Parts: sequence; structure tokens; C-alpha cells
Amino acid sequence: MKITFDNRKSMKIRYSGRSSDYITPSFGWGCLFKCTYCYMRRHKPSGLSIAKNTDQILQAIQDHIDTLGRKKPNQTHSQFWTYDISCNEDFALHAKHHEWRKVFDFFKYNPTAFGTLATKYVNKDLLDYNANRKIRIRFSLMPQVFSDILEPNTSKIVDRIKAINDFYKAGYQVHINFSPIICNQGCSDEYIKLFEQINELVDDEIKSSIQCECIFLTHNTKMHEYNIQNGCSDSESILWQPERQESKTSSYGSVNIRYKRNLKSTYKDFFLYLLDKHLNWCNVRYIF
Ligand code: SF4
Repeated sequence: MKITFDNRKSMKIRYSGRSSDYITPSFGWGCLFKCTYCYMRRHKPSGLSIAKNTDQILQAIQDHIDTLGRKKPNQTHSQFWTYDISCNEDFALHAKHHEWRKVFDFFKYNPTAFGTLATKYVNKDLLDYNANRKIRIRFSLMPQVFSDILEPNTSKIVDRIKAINDFYKAGYQVHINFSPIICNQGCSDEYIKLFEQINELVDDEIKSSIQCECIFLTHNTKMHEYNIQNGCSDSESILWQPERQESKTSSYGSVNIRYKRNLKSTYKDFFLYLLDKHLNWCNVRYIF
């Protein structure tokens, strides 16, 4: 897998309002993992571009922070403006290629901003760093039976769950990212098993600090065709469920496939019911 070190040209900071308030310019573009539901497989099918102008990106973030007024509390954070540093890659997986300590230090010592990243990789190198709860790691979790097919080579789900304790102890804030949530025949049993496993493995003393975000599967026709052409029909038997899905234009203007509106509403309610039943200590930051 080719890794290139490039000057990132776009310093655009996008509004998110979901996992974070804003999304930073891409420290990395592309991913060494190849999750079959991930849009990055189409945008950058091979290789990984690492930004070598880290300082310039951090300055762009600081300039953006300086335009913001006082933070109004919201579900992303009650006190700090939140920035996702890992939108088009898995920053934790690629950390050794990044100046990750410099990026983490920027947020750790910033009086008004807070960094966050989702990951499917347990990178123990990051444990040798005390983020003073100014970096939030969001471990992505789904039932292992789906992960085996959809997320090849990523850390085992049980290891991601155990890592919640280790990363919390090291000084990170840790949340759970249930994403993408799959709603197929029989999936609720798998989610119940997952929730029971989380309840058993997360240390009781940190449970009240762990929150979650819940994001239902988004797919699209081009991705479906790409997967079929690239030998991922097993994945497509999970991801492509036309009888349950419909087209919808995303807030970024692309046409995606999502669970049908009325079904999704039922799925959301049921997912929240299961969460409340099995993980009632885990506050849901948002679900969509
Ligand atoms: S780890 Fe994240 S960025 Fe990488 S392929 Fe999977 S979903 Fe995409």
C-alpha cells in the first residue's frame, strides 16, 4: 500500500453538528483499512496521503476557532468546540505516519477546542499519552459477525471494547460509535449479544463517563456496483437491502441509499429500547 506525504492544499473546515461541531482539513486522505461500506474506498481506492503540513492545518484550525464566539453547550460537548480530525481516514490506525502528538497537544492545551476521532483500530502506542480528557476516542462497534465481513483486518470487536477501559485510564475521553448500524433479519439478536458484551467488559467505575452515538447504515448505488465488481458480494448481501431502503440526498448533496423513513423510525425506537434495556448507563449523544 503506497503512502505519500503531501502538502494538503484544502484548508476547508466543514460544519458537522453530529459527531463533532466541525471537521478539520484532512490530516490523512485514504485508509489502510478497506471497510466495504466506506465511501473512501471509491474516493481513494488505494494508497494513503498523509499531510506533511501539519502546522499549517493546525493554524487553519486555530484561525477558525478564533472566529467562533463562546461555545454553546450541545450534544458534542458542553464546554468546548469539537473538531473531528479523522473524517477521511482512520487517524489512530495511521498515527505513526502523523505527527500525532503535536495534533493531540494542540487540542490538549487549547482553551476552547477539543479533538475527536473514531477508530476501528486499537493502537496501543496512543496509550503512552495523557490527553487530559481533551481528546475523545470513539471506538466503532458492530456485531462481530458483521464486522468479519464488512471491516476486514480491523481490530476485533472484543478488543475494541476492552480498549475503552485502557484508553479511559490513559486520560482520553472515550465514547462508543455504533456505526454503521445494520438492520437485517436477525440482527437484533446480534446487537443484544454486543450490548451484553459491552456491559460485561466495560469497567463499572467508568460506565457513567461513556456515551454513544448511533448512526444507521448509509449506502449508495455506485458503492454497491463497486463492491460487486471488486468481489465483495458477501458484504453486499448485508449492505444492499432494496426492500428496506430508499434514495435520499445527503446534506452534502450526494444521493445515498438509507433505510426507508418509516422503517428507520421503527429501527431507531427499537435500537434505543435495546440500549436502554442492556446499556442504560450509556447516554445516547445522538441517533440518526
Ligand atoms: S476505518 Fe474508517 S476510513 Fe478506514 S475504511 Fe473503515 S470506515 Fe473507512
